[in-house]
Amino acid sequence: MLLFCKISYFRIIRNTLAIAYLLFYKIAMKIICIGRNYLPHIKELQNEVPGEPVIFMKPKTAIANLGFPIYYPKFTEELHYEAEVVIRISKNGARITEGNARNYFKEWTIGLDLTARDLQTKLKKNGLPWEISKSFDNSAILGDFVPVPFEKLHDTNFELYQNEERVQIGNTKDMIFSIEKIIAYVSQFFTLQMGDLIFTGTPEGVGMVLPYDEFEGRLDGKTLLKVTIN
Ligand code: MG
Repeated sequence: MLLFCKISYFRIIRNTLAIAYLLFYKIAMKIICIGRNYLPHIKELQNEVPGEPVIFMKPKTAIANLGFPIYYPKFTEELHYEAEVVIRISKNGARITEGNARNYFKEWTIGLDLTARDLQTKLKKNGLPWEISKSFDNSAILGDFVPVPFEKLHDTNFELYQNEERVQIGNTKDMIFSIEKIIAYVSQFFTLQMGDLIFTGTPEGVGMVLPYDEFEGRLDGKTLLKVTIN
């Protein structure tokens, strides 16, 4: 009887933890993206250098399920890839200080912030929000998450290959706003929750995606992302 009670309690605790995991890690999630965080990329798109981070968001429905094919969206003729370092928030927090920001993430990966550049250019020209050009289904493609090597946080290379040709290379040391600064800045406005993702901006070399292109993303020399756009 005692053993039976112990097993029941164990099941209740296990199920509660599983539900909490789903609620906080999988469901309560937003995707915050930083624009214009590398100087050469700002120049290639002829944008102004920002005094503060440029922020936009994608809904969680933007995340591509890599178990299914990703199709070239019908509403654009100028789909662009943007390779970015993506961090995953590991703890809830608001108004986080820059000095404390490292306690709020443990894992990172390389991801693609897919952008309908033709739509974005048109919207920007008219002073309108960019959402439809940045936040559509499958516009957030994520590699496998790995532990952050904090000793190299500000000196890690990342690369994107398109059909085996390297098209983007970046280093976290070239970010205008460091990951800690980004966390401190965005958490003034939005409470960060476990599972939230932050795309930290793309270096120069963004370009066109063509149907059947194969992409490979490497972070710190390791391949974490492989995806084909159909
Ligand atoms: Mg981007």
